[in-house]
Parts: sequence; C-alpha cells; structure tokens
Amino acid sequence: MSETHDLRINRIKHGTVLDHIVAGRAFNVLSALDINGTDGNQVSVAMNVSSKQHKKKDIIKIENRILAVEETNRLALIAPHSTINIIENYEIIEKRNVELPKKFTGVFKCTNPTCISNSNEPIISELLIINQDPPSLKCKYCTRISLTEEIL
Ligand SMILES: [Zn+2]
Repeated sequence: MSETHDLRINRIKHGTVLDHIVAGRAFNVLSALDINGTDGNQVSVAMNVSSKQHKKKDIIKIENRILAVEETNRLALIAPHSTINIIENYEIIEKRNVELPKKFTGVFKCTNPTCISNSNEPIISELLIINQDPPSLKCKYCTRISLTEEIL
C-alpha cells in the first residue's frame, strides 16, 4: 500500500471494508446499511477514488463491525459490483461479493405512495425480486412492480 493511499484512508484493525462501490454512491450504501456514526465506531468514507478497473470508485471502512451476508446483499441494487472485505487484525479473513437476495425486507420503500407499507401502520416494507437483470421488485402488499431507478 503506498503512502498516499495510507494518508487518504486509514487501515482498520477489525471491521469491514466495502470496496469498488459505484462512484458517488457511498452515502446510499451507508443509508441502506443503517450506518450513521451514532454508535461511536470509526467510519471512513472515500469518494471518487481513482481505480484502474472502474475509473472512479467509493470506498467505505467500518471499524469494529462485521457486516453479515444479509446486510451486504442489501447493496445489490445500489452497488452491485462492490467487494466486501472482512478484516481481523489488519488481515483480510473473508472476501465476498454482493448477491441479489430473494427479497428486501425493511430496506427500500414501496414506490406506491398509497401502499399500506407507506402508511402509519406498523408494517415493514417487503419487496420481492421478480427479475434479476435488470432487477425489478414487486411489493408484497400492493403488488406494484418497481425498477431499481425508481427505488433508489
Ligand atoms: Zn406497496
């Protein structure tokens, strides 16, 4: 790792590094993961970093939190080609990709404003993946079908 890279974003001892995030999407990713910094753990965000593969990318480093597969799969629409690195004692102990899950529960809102999941009722949104590429999602409650661009 070069010195300039070190200055830009610190290495972490224990936690999760999300790499190759679509440039400019880091905050969407943090939001989908419910990370807002209030738990006191260090979160480093680097946006529009130069990368050979994808030209520009975003990187997020989350200290002291190991993201579960269920959590990182929430990024399938926002940052589908991200690489997830689980870090233990400064070493990568697990590397995984994002996979489109069968459904999203409580991650995205239904695009139908009159849907019961958008009302004041204590109902958690549930969007089922009905098509992989391009991804489209169907609301469990009102059956409205939404495309990725509408949901993000
Ligand atoms: Zn709905």
